[in-house]
Amino acid sequence: MNRQKYWNPLLETMPREKLKQLQFKKFKRILTWAYTHSKFHRALYDTAGLTPDDIRSFDDIKKIPKVEKSMMRDIQKKDPYPYGDALCVPLEEVSAFRQTSGTTGQPVYQPDTLQDWDWWAECWAFILWSQGYRAKDRVFLPFGYNIFVAFWAAHYGSEKLGCEVVPGGILDTQARILKIQELNATAMMATPTYVLNMADVAKNKMGIDSRELSISKITCAGEPGAGIPSTKKRMEDAWGAKVYDHCGATEIGAWAYECEDQPHGMHVNEAMFLVEIEDIETGHIIEEPGRRGKMIITALDRIAQPCVRFDSKDVIEWDSESCTCGRTFRLIKGGVLGRSDDITKVKGVLFSPAAIEEVVRSIDGLGDEFEIIVDKQGDVDRIKLKVELLPEVTRLSVENTLIDQLRLKTNLRYQIEYYDYGSLPRYEVKAKRFKDLRKKQ
Ligand SMILES: [Zn+2]
Repeated sequence: MNRQKYWNPLLETMPREKLKQLQFKKFKRILTWAYTHSKFHRALYDTAGLTPDDIRSFDDIKKIPKVEKSMMRDIQKKDPYPYGDALCVPLEEVSAFRQTSGTTGQPVYQPDTLQDWDWWAECWAFILWSQGYRAKDRVFLPFGYNIFVAFWAAHYGSEKLGCEVVPGGILDTQARILKIQELNATAMMATPTYVLNMADVAKNKMGIDSRELSISKITCAGEPGAGIPSTKKRMEDAWGAKVYDHCGATEIGAWAYECEDQPHGMHVNEAMFLVEIEDIETGHIIEEPGRRGKMIITALDRIAQPCVRFDSKDVIEWDSESCTCGRTFRLIKGGVLGRSDDITKVKGVLFSPAAIEEVVRSIDGLGDEFEIIVDKQGDVDRIKLKVELLPEVTRLSVENTLIDQLRLKTNLRYQIEYYDYGSLPRYEVKAKRFKDLRKKQ
């Protein structure tokens, strides 16, 4: 077995049938744990008339009720404060507090034990090793070290591999760039929005070409960008570095990663997570590649507040190809394709903001920023797209390509507004580029 290539060769190259047996065994274990220790889970399964003993085959797993984010918010009104009754360990065993960003409502609080935090670091060790991180790397982490989980687990995952970690905490963007330059950092991690923003600040405010810095690999999270080919290319060109995608969430863990072979998708860490894809309209579980649905996920080893069949609302699809890297963990094609909340019908056509990002970022004369606003004019849906022209680029030189590509990729027409470079809002972490004003009416 090749210890050099895989973090855990046994798990990452396990034959699929064996892997499925392992997932089933672990699913029953975490289900039993939740049923036995969490009042919330016990009530949920009792109401459905199910106990862990009723789960006798892999097929039975889909009988277990899903957990919605809204349920997790309701729990927090119960004891013990502030987590509520999904907590499976005594409160004094909780060693870490984090919370969700609350972009879709009241934040959810996440308790973890020290064992859970080790587990988080282990999840990240799979990711980083597969992306070529090794002990010789000096990893720069330009994020606010605060109540949000962000790259906290990446910090500990990097340490676990023996990398040297530089916490870029409350430094501003310019100070972070100077520190990367001073220390010759070899890798960093950030949202795609911030990766592009840092390169922009370096170039336009500091006269530093980010390609001249020593960063050779960047791991992204938080937004679909690293899975969108044109955005990935912009980041790789700006930094002269390899850009890799990964996916994680506060309530779930770090569940998927793109390996060094960059297969235009991500491996699901199937030794530590069970991912099911549910058809959004019928509710059936999709086994075959090429059909989109929303992800239902179970973290198979997380204990303080278990994540069992959590409805993540991430839209994904299985890839029909296996990866050239030799890992048997399945690939999700193109990474996370969007949120089921964001995928909406406009003029009767299914519409995903990620498709527009792909088009805008594939056109050389346009800047990185854009904004999409959907509203109604009378009874008719209208989509406004705001884009920025790069300095010295004329509207005429990009207009036809943009209109054609948008029609080709999305089947919709847009009202396009052109802005000077630098006039649309810039974001530090996650961008808010899509607004659906119809929802408030
Ligand atoms: Zn691979």
